[in-house]
Amino acid sequence: MVTTAVVAGVKVDTRHWIGGQRVASATTFADVSPLDGTVIADIARGGQAEIDAAVAAAKAAFVTWSRTAPAERAAVLHRIADGVEARLEDLAQVETMDNGSLLRSHRRGVMPRVAMNFRFFADHLLTLSHDDFDTRGHRNHITWDPAGVTAVITPWNAPLMLATWRIAPALAAGNTVVAKPPEWAPLTASLLADIATEAGLPAGVFNVVQGLGTEAGAPLTAHPDVRRISFTGSVPTARKVGEAAASNITPVSFELGGKSPLVIFDDADLDLAVDIAVEQFDNSGQVCLAAVRILVQDGIAEEFQRRFLAKAAHVVQGDSRDESTGIGPLVSKTHLDRVDGFVQRAKSDGVTVLLGGEPNHELNLATGGFFYLPTVFADVDPTMEIVCHEVFGPVLTLQTFTTEADGVAMANDTEYGLAATIVTGSQDRAERVSSLVSAGTVWINCFFVRDLSAPFGGNGRSGIGREGGTWSFDFYCDVKNSVFAPKGWSAHG
Ligand code: NAD
Repeated sequence: MVTTAVVAGVKVDTRHWIGGQRVASATTFADVSPLDGTVIADIARGGQAEIDAAVAAAKAAFVTWSRTAPAERAAVLHRIADGVEARLEDLAQVETMDNGSLLRSHRRGVMPRVAMNFRFFADHLLTLSHDDFDTRGHRNHITWDPAGVTAVITPWNAPLMLATWRIAPALAAGNTVVAKPPEWAPLTASLLADIATEAGLPAGVFNVVQGLGTEAGAPLTAHPDVRRISFTGSVPTARKVGEAAASNITPVSFELGGKSPLVIFDDADLDLAVDIAVEQFDNSGQVCLAAVRILVQDGIAEEFQRRFLAKAAHVVQGDSRDESTGIGPLVSKTHLDRVDGFVQRAKSDGVTVLLGGEPNHELNLATGGFFYLPTVFADVDPTMEIVCHEVFGPVLTLQTFTTEADGVAMANDTEYGLAATIVTGSQDRAERVSSLVSAGTVWINCFFVRDLSAPFGGNGRSGIGREGGTWSFDFYCDVKNSVFAPKGWSAHG
């Protein structure tokens, strides 16, 4: 049985990581690179048995890890961050081959953020206050207790960054983790297991079960010994995870999809607005936060459209390992077909194609990869599928509005509420509009500025709960109030 793959020159173990051991499964699944369509690894295909073993290992390890002093836990997390930094180039290369995102983004943004996830939550753990206050002479003592085994299920668009954004606070809180990586990009989770072990994380504290969502993810979310489920993914899967969680009353944190607006007012700095709009093609639009509904006030709509299309037409599509590439492939052929389905239906609905509107056939033929042309539609109707449903690809729609109130109403005309971006030259308008827009994060004259101490999450169908800073510990901990009677106190006075 093949147990390792060599990807971009990096050796990756393709088995599970359970209780400090590499564990194989009877079957495997193929991991395909979106850059050229080749199989780069055969990954262990876990199911109920592997999940049971991983949860049992995590439950056993919880006894000691949950009682390990916070300073010691924090030190291990910092050593994991050191390991991520030491292997940054390996992680970046492997992730690029696996999910097709740009190598330069992995090197300069994503992988440093992975290390930061561990450092931030290690440090934040040590600042958590254990409040005490008095009630008629009785002392209320509030503590943040570790909750138990935590399931972390994540998608493929930023695999290691999104996984560690959940794994790091869970471990910091004193929980143990069973991670189910995305089947379309499973490799860096395996490298993380190596790094965590080298950093001295005890066996069983962090486990990885590879596999498909229905076969490995579903039994993990239904497991009665799982005390927290942290899920990042799509709304349809979240419904299933929610049902499984309900049977055990397991608390969930859901970070789901979006259909976020970019609202550009006629007093905006147009160069800035254009730059932000073009940024929405980053990662081929496979970004939950992407502001894919561009709403422009009608006085500047024509000029904005002209400048935006001119700039968007120059985004270079190609090999994600090249420095000059601005947009890589979609993650898989299945996903390309899904994105194309949305685009072709939109065309049938009568939209105007301003840019793209089809796969990059030439590049796909030349490389075997899954490239989709950056696409912009105008003349869209607010009820159209292309405006209402998350595409998760490089597909943007342009709409215009007349008054500020119209702009706000259109921004809020969605069942999602993950993020909103506003471009305006007026501070008063910025304050007004940001207070009226329904979203977990609102960016004003900027985009994608994230501080790990800020709450992150979505309204409506975009999720349940917030993570980041103390909000993460709120979720991963069982907060307890111990009430101490004063010395000599008697119930009978
Ligand atoms: P998905 O829901 O198909 O899969 C997400 C994960 O769930 C995968 O690991 C998958 O194997 C697993 N899964 C699938 N079926 C399962 C089941 N029945 N039980 C348990 N687990 C199961 O999503 P995707 O296509 O991988 O990712 C794209 C989605 O993720 C988009 O909707 C995107 O907006 C969302 N996303 C949200 C955020 C955020 O922070 N809000 C970040 C990134 C991506």
